[in-house]
Amino acid sequence: MRKDPIKLTTGLGFAGVLALMGLISFISLSQMSMITEQMSQLINETNTKISAANAMRDSIRLRGESLYNMSLTDDYIERDEYRSKFYKYALQYKVARDTLYSYRMSSREAKLLDQLMTQTRAAKKLNDIAAENLLSDLPEKTVKDSIRLANNARHGILKKLDELVQLQEDISKSVVDDAKQYQETISTIISFLSLAAFFIAIYIAQLVIRETTRKNYEIRFQATHDELTKLVNRKEFNHRLQDALKTAVDNHEVHALCFMDLDKFKIINDTCGHKAGDQLLIQLTRIIKEKIRSHDTLARLGGDEFGLLLEGCTLEKATEIAEGIVSLVKNHEFKWQDKTFHVGVSIGLIMMTHETRSIDKALSQADIACYAAKDMGRNQVHIHGFGDKYAKKIHKELGWVAQINNSNCEQRFALHLQAVTNLQEQQSTMIYEVLLRLKDDTGNWVSPESYIPAAERFNLMQDVDYWVIKNSFKYLSELYKKFPECNIQLSINISANSLGRYHFTEFVIEQLQKYNITPGVICFEIAEANAVKNISQSADIITRLRKHNIKFALDNFGSSMTSISYLKDLQVDYLKIDGNIIKNISQNTTDKAMVAAINQAGKVMNIEIVAKHVENIFTYNQLKEMGIDYVQGFYIEKPFPLSQQMETLKKHLPPLSKRH
Ligand code: GH3
Ligand code: MG
Repeated sequence: MRKDPIKLTTGLGFAGVLALMGLISFISLSQMSMITEQMSQLINETNTKISAANAMRDSIRLRGESLYNMSLTDDYIERDEYRSKFYKYALQYKVARDTLYSYRMSSREAKLLDQLMTQTRAAKKLNDIAAENLLSDLPEKTVKDSIRLANNARHGILKKLDELVQLQEDISKSVVDDAKQYQETISTIISFLSLAAFFIAIYIAQLVIRETTRKNYEIRFQATHDELTKLVNRKEFNHRLQDALKTAVDNHEVHALCFMDLDKFKIINDTCGHKAGDQLLIQLTRIIKEKIRSHDTLARLGGDEFGLLLEGCTLEKATEIAEGIVSLVKNHEFKWQDKTFHVGVSIGLIMMTHETRSIDKALSQADIACYAAKDMGRNQVHIHGFGDKYAKKIHKELGWVAQINNSNCEQRFALHLQAVTNLQEQQSTMIYEVLLRLKDDTGNWVSPESYIPAAERFNLMQDVDYWVIKNSFKYLSELYKKFPECNIQLSINISANSLGRYHFTEFVIEQLQKYNITPGVICFEIAEANAVKNISQSADIITRLRKHNIKFALDNFGSSMTSISYLKDLQVDYLKIDGNIIKNISQNTTDKAMVAAINQAGKVMNIEIVAKHVENIFTYNQLKEMGIDYVQGFYIEKPFPLSQQMETLKKHLPPLSKRH
């Protein structure tokens, strides 16, 4: 696992600060107690040495006194008492001196003590002589001379002892000075360490604040921007639109809104892969950004759709910018490996004024305008406005869409059936495609081509699909109850909207169980174009539903050159060849060859082929000759309402003996 350098630095930094704090506490406590201990030990030692030196001085003085008193008295006993005191003080002197010697000595002390020792020995001798002389009968002069000599010797010792005391005082002073110096050094080290800890802590705090700010920015950026192009996303775009709308309503400012959808973008994904598509989206984002003004907002709304908000922009300026974008995109050469591609962009443009009711309305109008731009041939700008023929056309389509959206399905929709007939052998299973019809305001049935594309675009087909599935299943369940021996299979169309819906599979399984549908009697038809829009999603639905004995057909197959290549990813039972190809096989040899190729591929892959739009006997015969499995079309049977089917089916149902 990769280590986060910031976390590592922060962790190490905190550990460093803690270690420094620990070190500071340790140094403070240990060094201070050491200094105190050493100082008190040294001071005790020095005091004891001074006391010993003073005791030696006292002994010398008292010894001198005793000698002097001996010289004054004539009383033999008294003189003897002074004499014994004289020797006692000598002993006291020795004890004090030994105490002094028992301590560690510096070289200066040792030297002084050596001199003292030499002087002591000499003085002792002279004093002992003087004392003995006082007790002798020697001439007075000799005695006095010896006393003088003894006194001088003692004075010499006293001077040395003064020196010794002075030395001890000097030592004490220097110990205190050293301790002070040491304490200062320790204080400097502690201050330095505290400063280091302080700066590390400041650095870490800064790092944490900077990192948190960066992370917060990153999180906010991710929430408001598209990961691939780094443009603002739909949510953020809506916020900005909302703000713009407020200024339009409050201050009568005028803004322009463009809804852009790339043209034929899927070709890039299909031929070069998703990575190439991503790269193109990034490149186009860059070049479009160069065309717009710095305060304009370009957003990725999803897939190959972009939004552009031009604030404080007139219609003329907005049109100029939008047309500039169309021409930039058109002229952009996209190179991938050794190939070069061109795509286009269709732009729907609307103005946001104080009359704009809501951003949803504005966006949907811009979307419709974009749809109109596509419908007019792509690669162009369409300005939203009422009265022009495209707006009318789109509004007509959307009229149907609105009906789908709000309609009471039961009243508006009806299911029709159209037979799919086996061309090559006696059919054991009767196959019908379920067709959806919409009743218009005048009560006429409207064909699906007029509303399904618009409904799919505005994501409204899902409810319709659900309604069709539910009613087809219900119908089948009733049918099998009435005719338990019947052998009928229904083919139901699924729109692109359902393919993209996560719960679609669950819904179908639930309905299969609810209506107790016989295994193998349902086939779902997916238009090839929708299936390839998201191959993995389609393959997933197919795989999951095949486990529940649902069959699959790829409808309008053959509409693109790459059709056959998709077959390895989609496990289907039938291929329904695009009606536009079938219609022409008697005149167009290319179409005929195409049908033959698809048929051949079907045989190899064990997929049955259905030819749609069979409208005459010539086509029928040719398909039969070519070995096509099934046919469907007006020549065989026109669709008929489900409500009439029970009767028709009774006629269609073959005698029991003929069924498998
Ligand atoms: P039209 O001219 O009608 O707009 O068709 P088109 O080929 O541009 O396709 P359409 O707009 O209907 O669909 C957009 C496609 O963009 C569908 C999807 O496969 C593809 N797509 C969606 N998101 C991404 C993406 O993030 N990266 C890539 N590479 N492709 C994407
Ligand atoms: Mg597109």
